[in-house]
Amino acid sequence: MTPLDYQVNVPQKISRITELAYNLWWSWNPEARELFKHLDYTLWRSTQHNPVQMLQEMTSEQLENAANDSLFYSRYNKVLMAFDREMSDGHTWYTSNNPSATNLLVAYFSAEFGLHSSLPIYSGGLGILSGDHAKEASDLGIPLVCVGFMYPQGYFRQRIPSHGWQEAVYEQLDMNQAPIVQVTDEAGNEIMVSVRMGDRDVFARLWHVQVGRVPLYMLDTDVDENDPWDRELSARLYSGDSEHRIRQEIMLGIGGVRALRALDVNPTVWHMNEGHSAFLILECIREHVAVGKDFEEAAAAVRTNSLFTTHTPVAAGHDAFPFYMVEKYFAGYWDELGITRDEFLDLGRHEEEWGTSFNMTVLALKMAGQVNGVSKLHGQVSRAMWHNVWPERDVDEVPIIHVTNGIHVPTWIPTELHQLFSKYLGPYWVSRHDDPALWERVEEIPDIALWETHLELKHKMMGFFRERARQQWVEGTNDPTQVMTGGTLLDPNALTIGFARRFATYKRASLIFSDVERLREMILDNHRPLQIVFAGKAHPEDDPGKLLIQSIYNMAKHNLLGGRVAFIEDYDMHMARYLVQGVDVWLNTPRRPREASGTSGQKAALNGVPNLSILDGWWVEGYNGGNGWAIGFDREYNDDGQQDSEDAESFYNLLEEEIIPLYYQRDRDDVPRGWVAIMRESIRSNAPRFCTRRMLKEYTQLYLQACVECHSD
Ligand SMILES: *Cc1c(COP(=O)(O)O)cnc(C)c1O
Repeated sequence: MTPLDYQVNVPQKISRITELAYNLWWSWNPEARELFKHLDYTLWRSTQHNPVQMLQEMTSEQLENAANDSLFYSRYNKVLMAFDREMSDGHTWYTSNNPSATNLLVAYFSAEFGLHSSLPIYSGGLGILSGDHAKEASDLGIPLVCVGFMYPQGYFRQRIPSHGWQEAVYEQLDMNQAPIVQVTDEAGNEIMVSVRMGDRDVFARLWHVQVGRVPLYMLDTDVDENDPWDRELSARLYSGDSEHRIRQEIMLGIGGVRALRALDVNPTVWHMNEGHSAFLILECIREHVAVGKDFEEAAAAVRTNSLFTTHTPVAAGHDAFPFYMVEKYFAGYWDELGITRDEFLDLGRHEEEWGTSFNMTVLALKMAGQVNGVSKLHGQVSRAMWHNVWPERDVDEVPIIHVTNGIHVPTWIPTELHQLFSKYLGPYWVSRHDDPALWERVEEIPDIALWETHLELKHKMMGFFRERARQQWVEGTNDPTQVMTGGTLLDPNALTIGFARRFATYKRASLIFSDVERLREMILDNHRPLQIVFAGKAHPEDDPGKLLIQSIYNMAKHNLLGGRVAFIEDYDMHMARYLVQGVDVWLNTPRRPREASGTSGQKAALNGVPNLSILDGWWVEGYNGGNGWAIGFDREYNDDGQQDSEDAESFYNLLEEEIIPLYYQRDRDDVPRGWVAIMRESIRSNAPRFCTRRMLKEYTQLYLQACVECHSD
């Protein structure tokens, strides 16, 4: 039974549709998506593809009609059969490749999970990666259980008034409309965990969402037992001061381990996705010490079982806390670990610009058995950055490897492309999509079919912009400027660049406008116009980021750029799908080497949208000369100014000399053959490599090494 079954009168014939709504498996299965879409297309769109909310809003009569519609009913049966097959099938990639490693159970901790827009517990790339990781583990049958937070107010929704200064709106999530269930014991009592924080215990209840075969448990401190200030602890993602932050991280790391124990889930491997959850190591050590080990033995045992993935190539981007704060929360705890105050502080000791402090990354680096960065270049940068943790070693010997990020392919392609691939790559293409040989067959997709599918998706994206602007206009929340900057003046026939990402200054969104005159000539060219679509949020406390948004917003509304620059507000997963599938070129201009990996460009590449990007993050590995364009050079700079101007020059040259001419070079059928060749090469070369399937297979090797219990015989 799901919570919906108590609220909605679903006809017996299709009663399991509620079960389907509560397993996010539906979101990456095209037939299941179509099933919900056909239930009520209007509600499907107005709820932003949220089946739980849709079913609540449908009338009994509508549901009755659906049950009696034979086409719908046969679709329903087909989807449920596939669902049951998938959920009960013991034959997965994992079981057939590792028949004897039955003791593997990986606990995957992350502060955010981007699974679906109906569950807004993510802010950006890190969360999307965690979500894609969980989905792929489900597809491959890798035993994984996830731990994170339920943030009732999530990350903020972005509004951009006509003055261009981003406003953050926090909305209370209606838990009832999200695909989540509160975790209870058999008697129906809610399961709670508690963690000592300073002078009192802080409690958290647990929520559960099912991601195919993989469960995610989310901690939520909004319970009566807590003081008001503690109730707020998990209200929002990444907000509050550093004390708030350390308390959140204590709850995630220590409370998260206790949550699994309360559920009688006993992992054999612990994977920390970024340093936020690194306190989990301490809790695992404490458990060993409690049953008689000394600290060194306990630490050695935990080290063997643990992995840490670091994501941040910028020193200041790692969480670090002043010692007095650590003392406030851990005095007493170190006794339970069997170590002294100084020994405890040494575990995270690191010199920051503002003094010595307790750094979460250092804690994880020292205590985890295996450490990795998220691209080849990022691995290299991380080894240099953390050389001080292993001062006796050569920089090349610093024990940080890399596993390049990928994306969950079924999540990021639309049904249209899924069908095209099924036709030309074979109906079972999804099951072997990390095999480069499979993708050689994209050569067989006719130019015109690939091009027309792309145009269809481009139209769909522009329809999405228009409908959203229209809705807000009707609701009275938009003024005419906002309607215009929201992409309603865009021309579906013009070359359209997409730039959507977090507005942090290192991402250099303004590089595009470094020579406005030169850009304007391209944009206003009547024969071969150029358009740019922007989207993305700045962190609510990041004023330079907000200034950047404002300056771009001002460009978008300037009549001299003729409505060909748009800023679409409130970038999220839902919008990301339209963008990466619908623009013609995906632009990325980070200041190398600040982009650890980046994944939005991988989504675009898979959809046949070529990348135009700085050689940073994954693109250093992805670019092959024929699958998109590289801005600037494969080198480092000491001077930001020189780097910016060389990169800008390269960007403008590529547009003027290669990209624009190629896009508008059409044959008799109005197909840009040369362009389509690059689209095809983008898919062929990138799809099998930058997918979570390849990535999870690599992580599985690390998991198996870490799983002592897996090699007992
Ligand atoms: C994929 C994705 C990201 C990550 O993009 P980057 O390439 O790291 O900038 C961020 N936000 C959303 C909504 C995404 O879908």
